[in-house]
Amino acid sequence: MGGIQTKGCGKCGGTMYKTYETDQNGNTTSESQWICQGCGNME
Ligand SMILES: [Zn+2]
Repeated sequence: MGGIQTKGCGKCGGTMYKTYETDQNGNTTSESQWICQGCGNME
């Protein structure tokens, strides 16, 4: 399971992505950093 969340980048206004994993109950078990596809900014 798992998926991808997106939000706007605070630096360039591009799209930032964060992947996450979920357990069998749908609870988030781990998260990666936000990474901007436009400028490479990481949060
Ligand atoms: Zn950016």
